[in-house]
Amino acid sequence: MTPEEFREAGHQLIDWIADYRQDIENKPVRAQVGPGDVRASFNEDAIEETMPFDRLLSALDARVVPGVTQVQSPMHFGWFPSNASLASVLGDIASSGMGTLGISWESCPSLTEVEEVTVNWMRELVGLSDAWQGTIHDTASTACLTALLAARERAGEFCLQGGGVQGLEQPLVVYTTQEAHSSVEKATLLAGFGRNNLHLVEMDPITRAMRPEALAQAIADDLASGKKPAAVVASCGSTGVTAFDPVKEIVDVANAHNIWVHVDAAMAGTAMLLPECRHLWNGVEGADSLSWNPHKWMGTILDTSLFFVRDAQHLIRVMSTNPSYLQSQVDGDVVQYRDWGIPLGRRFRALKLWFHLKLDGIENIRARLRRDLENARWLADQVTDHHEWELVSPLTLQTVCIRHRPSELSQEELNEHTLTWARAINDSGQAFVSPSSIDGEWIVRVSIGVESTDRSHVERLWALLQHTATDSLRT
Ligand code: PLP
Repeated sequence: MTPEEFREAGHQLIDWIADYRQDIENKPVRAQVGPGDVRASFNEDAIEETMPFDRLLSALDARVVPGVTQVQSPMHFGWFPSNASLASVLGDIASSGMGTLGISWESCPSLTEVEEVTVNWMRELVGLSDAWQGTIHDTASTACLTALLAARERAGEFCLQGGGVQGLEQPLVVYTTQEAHSSVEKATLLAGFGRNNLHLVEMDPITRAMRPEALAQAIADDLASGKKPAAVVASCGSTGVTAFDPVKEIVDVANAHNIWVHVDAAMAGTAMLLPECRHLWNGVEGADSLSWNPHKWMGTILDTSLFFVRDAQHLIRVMSTNPSYLQSQVDGDVVQYRDWGIPLGRRFRALKLWFHLKLDGIENIRARLRRDLENARWLADQVTDHHEWELVSPLTLQTVCIRHRPSELSQEELNEHTLTWARAINDSGQAFVSPSSIDGEWIVRVSIGVESTDRSHVERLWALLQHTATDSLRT
């Protein structure tokens, strides 16, 4: 494809994207395909056959779009918001269009330095001190794995330079709660700690936040049995019920044993753009690392996951490689982001953040977040005021955890009823919500925060929830 051909096709594609977004409310929210349907529609093509661009666009409409769950739809209330602001989409296109390669400062000085600047802005915007330095990873899962590798090497005194974890006399332990995201368990296993050394700490039964005194006891028990505590992963805004582990108290317990504290604020980091929410991560300055996904509620398109550390030199020591072909005269004077994480080659992700901040503006983003908090409060109030509905956990941000609980149902019937009405809503294509199991009881998470979701959509959802739940009792 020549640049001239690209220009023509690119204009058509931008029009296609703008139309797609304008019309998104009319598309079914959940993908309306069955397993294998999309694959089968592609099997019709001969591999060698080429297509003119307009036919490719038609095929995109006919074959791909039906298999897309419309997470940008204002009626999407599933999982967590995964906003992809069009401003950041432009930054993504600019990044792809330049085709840069981030393997060293020299391979693209702008990639490194725009990342330094934007990450620093993001740090300031959530009120973190300049003791933190950060980078952009693809996901919070990668950030958590990186944090746990750094923690492992601190507790294991750079065992990677010798026998690795297998050479250690004392098993290293990671602490978190059952409420933590599955990526914490995954990172613990991948970082070589082993499932037996993932210690799930008791939570408060109402808030599902880690109990610091239970953490202290868990650490004491492990020390007594010859293990070495290495890391605590504190959830700030858990996926299940948006629980906030008490970071300050956790840091106090961890500091006494030189234990690394990683704060998983993948979702709720965005809330900290609002000064009135920052009490929720009180004590965060005492942690060692922190992850936050602007690609969730804030809306800088995937993959934009911020990873901050207090001791960048330690991280670099754990992660650095310095092969001869990547060395240059400026080494030592510049940041080499390949030493801040796992991959060598990196995309120019900072452009997405830069475009998002400059085109949408932080005050507009903040206003949208406050709108979502108010909408969540409104829905929570409707649920609380209705005798057949219940709020199953305290509302902390924008995700409302609910259940329709007609009095005549047993616990088993209630579980079945919850799944039935939630699935009916998702099958209808009118809205999407996430059923989720807490201690074996099914609840429904309504996560408000898609960029285009306003009060009218939340009102529409509330009406739909009531009809569907009542109707599904009759069938
Ligand atoms: N942590 C929390 C609290 C999350 O909710 C999620 C995803 O929803 C993650 C971590 C993992 O995020 P990612 O998809 O960026 O790996």
